[in-house]
Amino acid sequence: MATAPPEWQLIRASRLLDGTGAPPVERPTVVVRRGIIHGVYAGDAFRADWPAAAPVLEYPGHTLLPGLIDCHVHLTLPGDGTPFETTVREPDGTLVALAMRNAQTALAAGITTLRDCGSMRDTSLELRRAQRLGYAVLPRLFLCRCPMTVTGGHCWYFGGEADGPEGVRRMVRRLVRAGVDYIKIMASGGGTVGTISSRPSYTVEELRAAVDEAHRMNRRVGVHCTCAAATRNAVAAGADHIEHALFLTEDTGHQRYEPDVADAVARAAAVTSTLCVGDFIVQALRDKPGAGPEERAAVERWRRMNDGNLDNTRRMRAAGVRYVAGTDAGWRYTPFDGLVRELELLAASGARPVEAIAAATSGAAAAMGLEGEIGTLREGFAADIIAVPGDPSADLGVLRRPSMVMLGGTVVARH
Ligand SMILES: [Zn+2]
Repeated sequence: MATAPPEWQLIRASRLLDGTGAPPVERPTVVVRRGIIHGVYAGDAFRADWPAAAPVLEYPGHTLLPGLIDCHVHLTLPGDGTPFETTVREPDGTLVALAMRNAQTALAAGITTLRDCGSMRDTSLELRRAQRLGYAVLPRLFLCRCPMTVTGGHCWYFGGEADGPEGVRRMVRRLVRAGVDYIKIMASGGGTVGTISSRPSYTVEELRAAVDEAHRMNRRVGVHCTCAAATRNAVAAGADHIEHALFLTEDTGHQRYEPDVADAVARAAAVTSTLCVGDFIVQALRDKPGAGPEERAAVERWRRMNDGNLDNTRRMRAAGVRYVAGTDAGWRYTPFDGLVRELELLAASGARPVEAIAAATSGAAAAMGLEGEIGTLREGFAADIIAVPGDPSADLGVLRRPSMVMLGGTVVARH
């Protein structure tokens, strides 16, 4: 358990990236007071207005950055290849324990905020209750409880089935009453057995009713879309955020890019990338001992799929779409400390390293409506800070080895 930090703390390093894509600050001093950033100063350019005895954390050779934000995780899934249909049969208590382990894994890796995109029933809210009671030190949790889905739709096991404009309005009200931070909706099928990824599930009318009710209650809406028609519906309904934004066609494993969809999304919503999911699947299946022809065929299928996703992301970015970084941790083989892989894939789609970092810091915070609170190292923001050896604007890989993780002014991990 972390102990309360001193009122004033100073952190010094070789450089600082504030998360916005601004030029680095050389020889920075970050002054933290009561968990909030009091000031960020370059070199000796400050007039100290803090106690001389304030403790100083020194990180020579390191870069300071905002704690990272993973915009798409599933806290109650293990990310070890266990079939979804097996995990969802576990008792809720077991799933809360799993969620706690997953959240701690993320925090140790420098991920100080998790946006959960759907967990079993009330388990994510119960985890947050435990966090608030001080039973565990966990990242900030941004929760939707469970995704709203059509009867029998993607992730229906989680408990969010609702149909028809009145039904979805009622579900939004229930979710808000339960304490969610935002609303997640499945607008197409997905990896759930019996659902169809290449077709929309909800009608535009249903989506419009849900978005309208969510906005009335000051909640943003993230919409899972794996085909172009679903994305078109979500944008038409006023969604704030699209998850995946794939272009799957009826021909399984193939995608057909549609420029008008990219243009519509660029004007309306942020997109969570989730590029690493397929990458981790390929890695896991390839490394499996005794892989037969079936596994090899699956690896090839996923490779083609990953190439298609990367290509579509490149084109969407060129069309002006704002990407934020999310891993889909928990799903299939995606680990809770896999966010750096996602940033590397965003870079492979054409983002400069500092743009990839913004997608997991200031950009992610803005997409969640938390701009001004987290995701940037500037005065007034929460002191969620990581120190990594070397320079991540030259090599994103160094983000895998944070020497220090600070959450709200408390050092929660040292490596
Ligand atoms: Zn997901």
